[in-house]
Amino acid sequence: MDPRTELTDLHIHVGGAVAPHVLWAIAHDLGFKLPVKSYWDFCDLVYADPKKVTSLGDYLDIMHQWTEKIQSSPSAIERSVYEIIGKEYRSSRVSSIELRFNPMKRNLGGERDLDYIIAAAIRGMDRACLAYGIRAGLIFCLAREFDYELNEIIVKKAEKYRNQGVIGIDLAGPEKHTLEFGGDVERYRDLYARARAAGLGTTVHTGETSLTGVEGVLAVIEKLQPARIGHGIAAAQSEEAMRKLVERGIVLELCPSSNIRTHAVTGIDEVREIFAKFRKAGVRTTVNTDGTYLLGTTLRKEFELLLAHQVLSESEAFRCIETAKAATFLK
Ligand SMILES: [Zn+2]
Repeated sequence: MDPRTELTDLHIHVGGAVAPHVLWAIAHDLGFKLPVKSYWDFCDLVYADPKKVTSLGDYLDIMHQWTEKIQSSPSAIERSVYEIIGKEYRSSRVSSIELRFNPMKRNLGGERDLDYIIAAAIRGMDRACLAYGIRAGLIFCLAREFDYELNEIIVKKAEKYRNQGVIGIDLAGPEKHTLEFGGDVERYRDLYARARAAGLGTTVHTGETSLTGVEGVLAVIEKLQPARIGHGIAAAQSEEAMRKLVERGIVLELCPSSNIRTHAVTGIDEVREIFAKFRKAGVRTTVNTDGTYLLGTTLRKEFELLLAHQVLSESEAFRCIETAKAATFLK
């Protein structure tokens, strides 16, 4: 792929995309108490080492325990957002980026004012866009483990800051047990309707592991009607789910290295099978990073991986890039 090709990343978490040396500097600036003394041990702490991570839970724990806490101040989130946007452009020419995070996981359980956290994130984004001449937007993640009231506040904040760079909402966190499939999705129906009515883009993490099956994806399609789905690889097991994705024009935000690292798939061969099924069914797909530093990847490396293993041809890779451009929530 031509290294000058400009890319779009639709699915990248602030919690998984800040370089360790930046997190290290932020932690020291804030006087954050770390469990390790050495920088190299710290790097291990914030990296999803394939030897340590065997599930989505292990992967998410790294963000919950360390990166999200270190990013929990206005100056920390501003610097995090600024650094990610610049770095993704320099490393992969990502010139349109949608960065996602949960502002309520950056305010130390209410100790910090949410509006200050959000305003700081927007400031970091605006500064990076000015510096590099690129486009960016913020997606606020609701959390499956939060009460309804907390998620409602996040949606209200997304509405409030819609004209200042917040472009959408997401729902994140593992779908833990079968009761959550279908039944639990209902909890978010009115929040998603409200976000849509406010002109916000909508996406949902679902079907990220084979454990959760296709029921979650089907319930999300019916009840939340998102414009896009994060991962959604479980849909490849079901003709019905793929047909519905096509009918409704829902775009999948695929994150290959993330799925391999969390053991959502057995390896690159399964990734190839999944892409082939989606292609055959006509499902619109995009390629994204999920968390560059957490996974030790970049968006360009993701494409190189898929090209090297014949998951995508050059023209199919180009099509994913075009689909991402068409599906972005950035106006
Ligand atoms: Zn994700």
